[in-house]
Amino acid sequence: MNITELARRMRVAPEELRAKLPELGFSIGRKAIKIDNRVAQQIQEAWGEMRRRERLTEKIQSQKELAERRAKSADATDRIPVSLPPVMTVRDLAESLATPVPRLMQELMRNGILASINERLDYDTAAIIAEDLGFAPTKSEVTSTKETDSQGEEQLKTSLENQVKENLVTRAPVIVVMGHVDHGKTKILDAIRTTNVMATESGGITQHIGAYQVIRNDRPITFIDTPGHEAFTVMRSRGAKVADIAILVVAADDGVQPQTKEAINIIQSAHLPFVVALNKIDREGANLDKVKTQLSEAGLVPEEWGGKTIMVPVSAKEGTNIDQLLDMLLLVTDLEKDRIVADPNRPAIGTVIESRVDSGAGAVATVLVQAGTLKAGDTLGVRGSNYGRVRAMRDWKGELVDSAPPSTPVRILGWKLAPAVGDVMEVPVDGKTLERLKLNDVSRQATQEMASLKHVLRKDSPGTEAAKMLNVVIRADVLGSLEAILGMLDTVVHEEVGVKVVSRGLGNLTDKDILDAEAAHAIVIGFNVEPTVSAEELSRDKNVDIRRYKVIYKLFDDILSDLQKLLPSETTYTELGRFEVMANFRKTDDGSIVGGRVTDGKLIPGAQLRVKRGEEYVGEGELTLLRSGRSDVKIMRAGQECGIKFKGRIKLEIGDMLEAYTKEEKHRTLKIAGVSRR
Ligand code: GDP
Repeated sequence: MNITELARRMRVAPEELRAKLPELGFSIGRKAIKIDNRVAQQIQEAWGEMRRRERLTEKIQSQKELAERRAKSADATDRIPVSLPPVMTVRDLAESLATPVPRLMQELMRNGILASINERLDYDTAAIIAEDLGFAPTKSEVTSTKETDSQGEEQLKTSLENQVKENLVTRAPVIVVMGHVDHGKTKILDAIRTTNVMATESGGITQHIGAYQVIRNDRPITFIDTPGHEAFTVMRSRGAKVADIAILVVAADDGVQPQTKEAINIIQSAHLPFVVALNKIDREGANLDKVKTQLSEAGLVPEEWGGKTIMVPVSAKEGTNIDQLLDMLLLVTDLEKDRIVADPNRPAIGTVIESRVDSGAGAVATVLVQAGTLKAGDTLGVRGSNYGRVRAMRDWKGELVDSAPPSTPVRILGWKLAPAVGDVMEVPVDGKTLERLKLNDVSRQATQEMASLKHVLRKDSPGTEAAKMLNVVIRADVLGSLEAILGMLDTVVHEEVGVKVVSRGLGNLTDKDILDAEAAHAIVIGFNVEPTVSAEELSRDKNVDIRRYKVIYKLFDDILSDLQKLLPSETTYTELGRFEVMANFRKTDDGSIVGGRVTDGKLIPGAQLRVKRGEEYVGEGELTLLRSGRSDVKIMRAGQECGIKFKGRIKLEIGDMLEAYTKEEKHRTLKIAGVSRR
């Protein structure tokens, strides 16, 4: 047989085969081309044996490392001192603690804080996290110089701070609604909208543009109309601080739930003033005292019990007390009046709160103006680039407007490129700035931004290569939903499993999505979208799983259970002891019986065994019986001599060392800190 043919059969490169042959004990001469078939057979066997040993050594090495790592983490009681500044970003903290960012985010989430990499943490929060990670933090007085704010936040902050004091006037408060799913956030937003539609309004058909305004006691109030803190979190993680006051909705018949707690954490970490709406009081099961007790336990004590939290019992369904809720919002506004101000006489700056691509009109996005006044014809600056010019603006009533003062949401036509939800929009201050705004590479930049967080997570994740990925193709109806879904998926930070979005997009599911999914072994997720008829057929042909959702939490829950299935079971290795083979008694059907001495540790029946011959591992097996004299025993310790029944394929030799260990496999439940399942 030709050497090359042999190499091909053995799936190795001919050069590698030649190089290894002497090691295997074959000398065929360096130039030989043909070899005897019998020799070829022997080479194949020896090669297989060598490979088997190599794999065994690797396996044993990794078992031992795993056991060592566990032992180390178990007795790491000594805390490492670390000095932390009064304020630092998540990234800085990760650096100070020499901890990968995803691990830190995970720890933050475990404490109910959903923070992005550039988000700032105060010392107290950072210290708790540091302690949890085994550090002994102390406070240093210097502010971190490495602070890296996200561009948007910095831009928004400076622009808002640089407003001329004398020009500041009161503006409408901006309200965001948060709370557990199904507690009535949408219904409350609807109730507020309908009870306050002004009589003068032309058609009365309101537009969903992501925010709306109502007038109460002649005072305007702006509501962000994308309920749920997913949306809020996505916006906030981009650095945008949009809301002035939150309404925390708690259903009086259901009480405090995981997402209620999550919302409380978000509100508190953002230092957001808030009012609690105890909803669904029309329901039979409503129990106000019980809910108030639960809220008090969560740190929100109602005013009538001597606390500071304003609570308004409402029924969104029947419209009960909605006016009172609005009055309370105005009350809080008065308390915060120094902060709820803006200069209307400057170029506008605001935040994108909704964005989609309309097949007819192109990119359409809603901006909440936060300072200045946005006018028709203004240039739309986003991330230092020119994103277009205001061609037309409509308010939430669908009416065309030609200027939008602070706290007004307007849907804008005239984008050359769709901005992302959470983007800061700033009209350039002067001609010079205008010149600098060029449409250079904006689209590339946008995609990079979208990918950046995911990238960071993956790059820093320990054991990334080993991580099992759930591949998904996602399509959603609007950018807002897509962002919220991606934002949710970003919270899946786990060392062993993860979600990989292989493709994403807006609008109905097409053939291309199915083909993408097939190529990547992905599942297809449609959020409020349907597959086209041909995509549906194709999915059946190609056996691609299409899942349709209308509720984000349901989608997320399913993803979590898919990930759970990917999670490998947990194996714990415990080293027991070693045994030296001193006599070979006899062969059995599935192994042999040998005698020898426990050189250290102990042996127990049922232990796994590694066979070490000299410096090399040559095989493995199991200790099925332990005998001392004529009786079966349960344990033998160092120094004792005994007989063992070895189950395994390898033939034991005198002088072999048997390393005994136990292996425990546990099915694990997927735990992603801070992520609650319904
Ligand atoms: P969200 O998930 O928090 O936005 O909750 P929704 O606003 O979608 O409300 C969830 C369900 O509760 C819907 O079926 C609503 O009709 C119902 N609901 C909301 N508010 C009330 C209320 O005040 N009374 C009653 N009886 N049902 C309500």
